[in-house]
Amino acid sequence: MDITKLEKILENKPKYRLKQANEAVFKNFISDWNEATFFTKDLRDKLNKECPLDIKADILVAKDKNSIKAKIKLFDGLEIESVLMRHADGRNTVCVSSQVGCPMNCAFCATGKMGFVRNLTASEILEQVIFFDRYIKNLKFKIKNYVTNVTFMGMGEPFLNYDNVMQSIKILNNKDFFNIGARSISVSTCGIVEGIKKFSEEGLQLNLAISLHAPSDKLRTELMPVNKTYSLKNILKSVDEYIKKTKRKVMFEYVLIKNVNDSDECAVQLAKLMRKKLYFVNLILYNKTGSFEPSETKRVGAFKKLLEKENINFVQRYRFGDDIKAACGQFATESKKA
Ligand code: SF4
Repeated sequence: MDITKLEKILENKPKYRLKQANEAVFKNFISDWNEATFFTKDLRDKLNKECPLDIKADILVAKDKNSIKAKIKLFDGLEIESVLMRHADGRNTVCVSSQVGCPMNCAFCATGKMGFVRNLTASEILEQVIFFDRYIKNLKFKIKNYVTNVTFMGMGEPFLNYDNVMQSIKILNNKDFFNIGARSISVSTCGIVEGIKKFSEEGLQLNLAISLHAPSDKLRTELMPVNKTYSLKNILKSVDEYIKKTKRKVMFEYVLIKNVNDSDECAVQLAKLMRKKLYFVNLILYNKTGSFEPSETKRVGAFKKLLEKENINFVQRYRFGDDIKAACGQFATESKKA
């Protein structure tokens, strides 16, 4: 599916035709132009030929049915993964990928092991959200909302595909398309400082998250090689500039890995870094990937107690999709370079 072709195909038609087509794709989530009966048969055939709407994907549904993972096949045969998380309060969040693979090679991350294959186009990013909107539309039991939130926390480093990510965000946010509020869209970076600066200049109320995962340069460099280029000091400086400009809170993600970053000493170091008012920590329970293990429940409790004692703002993310490998650091496919 390449929705950017739509404008070109309909350029000689009256303007309202493009509006109708966009509504059909982005609000009514049709998956075949033959459903757009307001168009002539000839035009529907042309659209089906030149801008087909089908999305090829395999899905895996978690036992609790609250997380659904899609392995989406792209036009060139490569695959990406995205996850729909259904929250108890009615929100439906889609975690999208921004690249096929990832060049950042974080030690605990399955995507990093794939290496970098290519950037996704804006259309390929949006396709992931459309896929889940259609999935919700076709559920036998009706649920209240379509996709309400989008997070860029799937495969890839979004700020290394900045322009396509921003183009997709503007369409997600546009009321004539998905109409998803800026405050419901989050971008997570491993700390690309130039990207944080550009993001602060967008003038949108988007959410920024930093994948931190270690409280010292030494440990962070072991886990995330990107830390050699962007040290903690540089990242936090750019986050502070971002906060000054946007007045937005910034989330720091910290995935708890057994005997790696979950000691008392790590908690104390983390607390020292996170004392600022508009910082908050998102503690993530790691799902086993490769040689790393999740922290034990008792250890997680002790870690949290230390953060509490230091008055650090933190939340602990509910563990989604353990049984379908849908959690942070578990996105990977068998895709190979085409
Ligand atoms: S954690 Fe994020 S930045 Fe690191 S390798 Fe995985 S996808 Fe890339």
